[in-house]
Amino acid sequence: MIRANQLKVTVQKDREKAIRQKLCKQYRMKPEQLKSVLLRKLSIDARDKGEIKWVCNVDFTTDCDDQLLKKNKQLTEAVENLYTLPTKGTVALGRRPIIIGFGPAGMFAGLLLSEMGYAPIILERGESVEERTKSVTEFWETGVLNASSNVQFGEGGAGTFSDGKLTTRIKDIRCQKVLEYFVDCGAPEEITYLNKPHIGTDVLKTVVRNIRNRIIADGGEVRFNTQVTDLLVEKGQISGVRLENGDVLESDQVILAIGHSARDTFELLKERQVDISPKPFAVGVRIEHPQSIIDYAQYGEGETQDLLGAADYALTYQASNGRAVYTFCMCPGGSVVAAASETGQVVTNGMSEYARDKANANSAVLVSVTPKDFAGDDPLAGMYFQRALEEKAFELGGSNYYAPVMRVVDFLGQSSCSDKALNRMTVEPTYRPGVSSSDFSALFPEFVTEAMREGLIAFGKKIKGFDMDQGLLTAVETRTSSPIRIVRDNETLESTSATGLYPCGEGAGYAGGIISSAVDGIKCAERIIEKYQPLK
Ligand SMILES: Cc1cc2nc3c(=O)[nH]c(=O)nc-3n(C[C@H](O)[C@H](O)[C@H](O)COP(=O)(O)OP(=O)(O)OC[C@H]3O[C@@H](n4cnc5c(N)ncnc54)[C@H](O)[C@@H]3O)c2cc1C
Repeated sequence: MIRANQLKVTVQKDREKAIRQKLCKQYRMKPEQLKSVLLRKLSIDARDKGEIKWVCNVDFTTDCDDQLLKKNKQLTEAVENLYTLPTKGTVALGRRPIIIGFGPAGMFAGLLLSEMGYAPIILERGESVEERTKSVTEFWETGVLNASSNVQFGEGGAGTFSDGKLTTRIKDIRCQKVLEYFVDCGAPEEITYLNKPHIGTDVLKTVVRNIRNRIIADGGEVRFNTQVTDLLVEKGQISGVRLENGDVLESDQVILAIGHSARDTFELLKERQVDISPKPFAVGVRIEHPQSIIDYAQYGEGETQDLLGAADYALTYQASNGRAVYTFCMCPGGSVVAAASETGQVVTNGMSEYARDKANANSAVLVSVTPKDFAGDDPLAGMYFQRALEEKAFELGGSNYYAPVMRVVDFLGQSSCSDKALNRMTVEPTYRPGVSSSDFSALFPEFVTEAMREGLIAFGKKIKGFDMDQGLLTAVETRTSSPIRIVRDNETLESTSATGLYPCGEGAGYAGGIISSAVDGIKCAERIIEKYQPLK
C-alpha cells in the first residue's frame, strides 16, 4: 500500500468520498484507478474557521502504484510497526501470578497474561461493572456512598465513569496493542485512527465486561469484592497476599495495580516499609460552560458543526508565582461527577457518554503542587493534603455530599456570589447529588487561589466567555494523579523492597490516564512472561 500523510480534506458529509476525491485530484488519478483506501490518522484543523479541514494519513492502493511512487516523492510505501508478543521464559512458574486491581493497568496485564497461558488471579475490591453502576447511581441520586464500590473503585477502575478519552502523550508500540484489545472487546474501530479517540462511559462499560469475559475464557480468574489487606514478604521476596476475609493467596509474582485512590493500601505499604516516595500532582476545581460557547470559540458558526462533534480545548498558563495552571480531562457535552471514595469528602471529576451530547462542557482547572507544599516529610503527606481539601469541600457543601459551587465572576471578585445570581445562570450545574452556592476562595492555600485566578483570566483571553458569567466552578478536584510513587527498578519493574512485586499503573506513579496505565500493565506482564514458562 502507499502512504499519503497530512492530506488536507474539507469537512463534508461523506468523508470517504471526500478523501477519495482529494487523492485523485492531488495525484492526478481517475476514480476507477483508486482501489482500497485505509484511514490511518485523522485530526481536525480548525485554524481557518471559515474552512475547517480534516488532516488525514491514509494508506491506499491503485492500479499504478509504482509510477505514482516514482512521480510523487512525498508518497511512501506504507510500513506498519506491529507489536510483537513477548518470548516466553523457561523458569517453571510455581504459583499463578496475582494482579491486585482491575483498572486499565490490571485489566491489560490480565489480558496479556491469560492470552499467553499464565492464568492470572485478579483481585478487585469493588463490584462488577453491573453492580458498581447501581452503587454509583445510588450515590449520585441519594448521597449514600459505597466506600468499596464507587467512581474510583470497582471493575474497570477509575476511568469507567469517564469521558473514556483514549489519548496519551507516550509514544510506545504497546499503545497500538491496547487499542487493538479495545476494538476486539467492542470499542469502535475509529479509535485506531482518530487523533483524539474517546469512547464515553456507556461504551466503556460494555468493553470492560467483554475484557473480563475474555480473560476468563483464556483461563484467568477475576474476583470482585475482594480487597487485599496485606502483602506477605519474606526475605525481600513477595510470597503472597492476605484478603479482607483473612484468606491467604500464595504467589511470588504480584502486580500491584491499585490506582491513585487506594489510601488504605498506601498506608499498608508504608507500614510494611515498601519503598514509597511523595510526588508532585495538581489540585483545583471543575469548570462548566454551555457547550455552545466552546463550539463557537473553536469552530465558529460553520454548518460543519454536526460533522465535527462537540468541541474540546486544552489550555495552559504559567502563573506569576511560578505555578503551572492548566485545564485537564476536558469532557465535551458531559457532566461533572461526584468521585469521592471515602466518607465525609467531596471530590469532583468529569464524564461524558460516547455521543457527547449534553448541554455543558467541563474540565478541571488545576494548579501544580509539589512535596514542598505538603506539611512534614511523611511520604504520604500529599495524600493527607488531598484529603484535607476534600473534607473542607464536604463541609462547605453542607456535609451531605453536595458540592460547593461558585460563579467564575464571583471567584474573580468581579461580583458577589448569591443564589439569585446563581439562578440567573444559563449553565445548569450537573454535579449530583446536588450543589450549594459557596465562597470557596479560602478553600485552597493562597498560592493555589492566586494562580487559579490568573489562569482563568488568561484562559478567558483564549476562549471568549471562559471567565465570564456563564462559567461555573465546582470544588474540589484532587485525584488528578497519584500523590506517591511506589519505587521500582527501571529494568525489572520490581519493587526495590520486594522482589516479585510489580508496582504498576497510575497508583504506583508510573502512568497517567487509561492508555498509559494499560501500557504499564502490559509491560509488567511482559516481565513475568519473559522470565517464566506458562502454566499450560
Ligand atoms: C471520573 C474519572 C474520569 C477519567 N477520565 C479519563 C479519561 O477520559 N481518559 C483517561 O485517559 N483517563 C481518565 N481518567 C484517569 C484514568 O481513569 C486513570 O488514569 C486510570 O484508570 C488508571 O488506571 P490504573 O489501572 O492504574 O488504576 P485504577 O483505574 O484506579 O484502578 C485501580 C483498581 O484497583 C482497585 N484496588 C485498589 N486497592 C485495592 C486493594 N487493596 N485490593 C483490591 N483492589 C484494589 C480499585 O478498586 C480500582 O478498581 C479518569 C479518572 C476518573 C476518576
